[in-house]
Amino acid sequence: MKRFDNGSVLLFILIQAAIAGVGSTATSKSDVPVGDVVSAGAEKSTAATPILSSPHQKSEFKSIAPEVALKWLQHGNTRFTKGTFRKDGVSSEDRKHLTEGQHPHSIVLSCSDSRVPPELVFDQKLGEIFAVRTAGEALDSTVIASIEYAVSHLGPQLVVVMGHTQCGAIKAAISTINGGDAGSDHLNKLVKDIQPRIDLLKRVPASVDYLTEAWVNAKGVAADLAKRSKIIDEKIKQGQLLVVPALYHIESGKVEW
Ligand SMILES: [Zn+2]
Repeated sequence: MKRFDNGSVLLFILIQAAIAGVGSTATSKSDVPVGDVVSAGAEKSTAATPILSSPHQKSEFKSIAPEVALKWLQHGNTRFTKGTFRKDGVSSEDRKHLTEGQHPHSIVLSCSDSRVPPELVFDQKLGEIFAVRTAGEALDSTVIASIEYAVSHLGPQLVVVMGHTQCGAIKAAISTINGGDAGSDHLNKLVKDIQPRIDLLKRVPASVDYLTEAWVNAKGVAADLAKRSKIIDEKIKQGQLLVVPALYHIESGKVEW
């Protein structure tokens, strides 16, 4: 991989954007890497990604291939753990561009835990991640509808379901798995959504930091999205959507895939 200085990267991407007619800086310069350089080839292939043909989607923008979006998130997490954050993407100019609309490259369903904000742990900026957050990534119809909306109207082809170590919702689901009260009707509904996904683990002692249970839950949520949403299931089968589970490690800041 050839390395460029940041100025060269920006110039190259701007040229690519001009050639491809990319109108939104949210996608064209959005991931100018600071700590890790995404290959020029990856940037080029992004610009060449064909427009989806869904009747729900506008034709003025180009969707980002899920493999490319995934690499951006992975590179962003590397920057996060190294403390070499991007310096673009939050200016008044960026906000101005985003008044024309949003075309996030990824959907991230993650826990509401204050230590796991996807925009920070993936070092992504305004307009780049469509975030849906619930404790334990628990699913209900509004969560699924939010993802269906983004998939149908905003163009992202990647959904990341990200659990994390030391998850309080997972801990609550484990402690009430044999019928205990989580504290309210709402909390009971939340743990009841999580419990079937970790049910097979209830006969063994909980893992350190609930790591195993959190992983199993995140993978289960990723699978349940397709089972519970016809829109998501069809997009996956048509090759227009990739759903990937992930696990954030609270101590190291690393996202495991
Ligand atoms: Zn959590």
